[in-house]
Amino acid sequence: MERTLIGETPKLVGKTVSLSGWVNIRRDHGKLIFIDLRDRTGIMQTVVIPDSKEAYETAKKLRSEFVVEIEGLVKARPASAVNQDSSTGGVELEAKKVNIISKPEGELAIDVSQESLDLKLETLLDNRTLALRNEKIKSIFKIYSELLSAYDEVMRKEGYVEIKTPKILSSATEGGANFFKIKYFDREACLAQSPQFYKQAGVSFFERVFEIGSVFRAEPHYTTRHVNEYIGLDGEVGFIKSFQDVMDELEKVVLSCMDSISKNCQEELKKYDVVIDESKPIPRITLVEAAEILEKEFGKKLENLDIDAEGERMICEWAKKKHSSDFIFLTNYPTALRPFYSMPGKDPEFTETFDLLFRGLEIASGGQRIHDYNQLVENIKKRKMKPEQFKDYLDIFKFGIPPHGGWGLGSERIVQKILGLGNIKEAILYPRDVKRLTP
Ligand code: ATP
Ligand code: MG
Repeated sequence: MERTLIGETPKLVGKTVSLSGWVNIRRDHGKLIFIDLRDRTGIMQTVVIPDSKEAYETAKKLRSEFVVEIEGLVKARPASAVNQDSSTGGVELEAKKVNIISKPEGELAIDVSQESLDLKLETLLDNRTLALRNEKIKSIFKIYSELLSAYDEVMRKEGYVEIKTPKILSSATEGGANFFKIKYFDREACLAQSPQFYKQAGVSFFERVFEIGSVFRAEPHYTTRHVNEYIGLDGEVGFIKSFQDVMDELEKVVLSCMDSISKNCQEELKKYDVVIDESKPIPRITLVEAAEILEKEFGKKLENLDIDAEGERMICEWAKKKHSSDFIFLTNYPTALRPFYSMPGKDPEFTETFDLLFRGLEIASGGQRIHDYNQLVENIKKRKMKPEQFKDYLDIFKFGIPPHGGWGLGSERIVQKILGLGNIKEAILYPRDVKRLTP
């Protein structure tokens, strides 16, 4: 018999169908065996009665996570039963045939049928492939998937071309020590800390480019917002008048992603008791203004305008109170805190750059880049670096390139903050941190 999906059964009351999926849990009540069956569309209760002899004998052998095929009659459940247990829906299946397709080996480390897995993060990560079968945990990645597709959709709509840039590089893109060295045949190479240089090159041939790609950071962090491999949502746009244009673009993109998630992931958001209320426009304040607010409202002093995680939380609290916004742009970061390619402001102590914060956390950095070859060479020298070291990068600017800018947006931090997850690793299928390289 053709397979029917659980999601289709409410329309098939009175029909005989064949379902396939995993045993979410088996419950025995007196002589009846209840099997909650799970497929990609939901969970449904099936009932096996002793009269269906063969099915009953097979059902007695079933345990959690067996993969089975169950044929039977779709029946409406009494409203009282549905109210008691809404997770399995308004219909049930009276099983006639049960066929085991595949069975787990040995004991399962965790019971994924619980509505909420109240376990330590390390346990969930150690048993990741199993934990990912839990409906609530799966919701995180359905939202993540929606984010990826929403980003892709809005970027294309706005005329950006999708590119994939190399992740194996001959040297660290932006200098610094936070890159992983790898053995590359008889040479040393390193993993990309950002697609920065290649996306700027992209502007020189496509005007507007975006990338959804892996970013590797060799930073020995032990925080709830850092991992060593993450997926960046990058964008770079040419022919801008100022870095305000870049923020306009990013604002449009981020709010559009929020909108898509809010529209298409209602069920998943509900599992986390989350409502996305869009706030437009996103307030923009300079870092100097932010520092004043922090001092006045929170009694917090910023050392050299270097805003830390606590400062970011506080300024978001202020944005929520004052502007009813979950987002805020902080602009004009000090030159000392930004990379050499950042466009200097009128006051050369500051740059035409920004961070975007969301619910207490930085989710993106961006700004206008220097596009003049000679200015860039001078800036590299000012930072006591050697222009020869950046030969390939500098070539981009020798051939003529318009004023441009862009951003790097952390995909996992967005999902973490939408759902209020305690740790970014919860929003990553198989996270990589200082200690964890498996599974
Ligand atoms: P932070 O100051 O939080 O360490 P950053 O300023 O070093 O981040 P950027 O180089 O600006 O990070 O990267 C752009 C975006 O990529 C960040 O705003 C963030 O959303 C994300 N990101 C950066 N580093 C990490 C990381 N280690 N793990 C997860 N996401 C990251
Ligand atoms: Mg940053």
